Amino acid sequence: MTFDRCQFPMLEQKVHGKPLIYLDSAATALKPRVVIEAISRYYAEEYGTVHRAIYAMAAGATERYNEVRAQVARFIGASSAEQIIFTKGTTEAINLVAYSFGKAFIGPGDEVIITEMEHHANIIPWQQMCEERGAHLRIVPIDDQGSLRLDELAKLLSKRTKMVAVTHMSNVLGTINPINAIVEMAHSFGAKVLVDGAQAAAHIPVNIEDVDFYAFSGHKLFGPTGIGILYGKKELLDLLPPYQTGGDMIEHVTWEKTTFQAPPLKFEAGTPLIASVMGLGAALSFIEHVGMEAIEEHGKRLLKITTEQLQNVPGVRIIGTAEDKGPIITFTMEGIHPLDAAAFLDLKGIAIRSGHLCAQPLLRRFGLTSAMRVSLAPYNTVEEIALFTEALSQVCFQLL
Ligand code: PMP
Repeated sequence: MTFDRCQFPMLEQKVHGKPLIYLDSAATALKPRVVIEAISRYYAEEYGTVHRAIYAMAAGATERYNEVRAQVARFIGASSAEQIIFTKGTTEAINLVAYSFGKAFIGPGDEVIITEMEHHANIIPWQQMCEERGAHLRIVPIDDQGSLRLDELAKLLSKRTKMVAVTHMSNVLGTINPINAIVEMAHSFGAKVLVDGAQAAAHIPVNIEDVDFYAFSGHKLFGPTGIGILYGKKELLDLLPPYQTGGDMIEHVTWEKTTFQAPPLKFEAGTPLIASVMGLGAALSFIEHVGMEAIEEHGKRLLKITTEQLQNVPGVRIIGTAEDKGPIITFTMEGIHPLDAAAFLDLKGIAIRSGHLCAQPLLRRFGLTSAMRVSLAPYNTVEEIALFTEALSQVCFQLL
């Protein structure tokens, strides 16, 4: 893999006097210089708003903004840029679909299916929408390894099912779900499928194929915060009402009535996060240069090494051992609270996630309220993993 850690200035930082070992990329990934530079170049040299004015700076910004939309479409194998909506993040993308799809297509007695392994971002928007529209939320269970029970999904699907919303890769278990099979099952009942790609998009090549909606966040892909993507099939986007209203998304406004732009602009009310879009473009070019296949390979290799080494640390229990799994490892340590262990590691410059991991129902499924998680990115090394597991072993001696 052509990957130079020097491209990430954060990796030159010291934490509590120790070199940073960053193992929380599932929460948010570090940024390469090209992304930081693209954002400051936009503000310093290319600043202008989009879609509004005729002068050169605005026209240049609009052109670049549209180029990034096309770049995103290529990144996920979408056939046109009109199917790409810029949002604040995965959370807003899912909220947009829950609101607009719910308003257009969901009524009393209808059903929405999600899974036991969802992030709160793919639970609560559906829960709220179902409550408001008198619909029912159904949950597909997982097995003890953390794989989705497709046999249970088959039992839950019916003509009442309007939407199946499922994560592509679990942010807790690392499980990669068989999206094509799920899409085929859902479509055979006429249900639509939304895939939460927040984790998958950063680790495996994505091809949206027949998925109806696909959501992901720029900041997990080496891009800036504040930018997310919603892909939607054109024929569905055409039918959905706007999520928010205001400037930019309109075609014609009178006191009596307003007509809207065609998608994607129909769903992008107000001045967008232009700098974040510029940063996202640089992040996608960076990924293209490194190669998604190489990123996937590196993740697999580090996952194997980390899992093996963690299994040798006394008292460690790994949550999520599905066969098809990305480089995310959640675990507990007997007799040690995750927050204590994470605080101990922080003093050694090692950043791991601890707490409910934004998936309280999933942790409860494993009898937990809190856990630790390491998540690996292309800038992580075998040496860092060794330092991390060595430090974790010391936790037992220091805290017990
Ligand atoms: N879904 C999953 C699987 C995630 O891991 C996350 C981020 N932790 C989200 C949704 C929400 O993403 P964001 O906070 O960027 O909107």
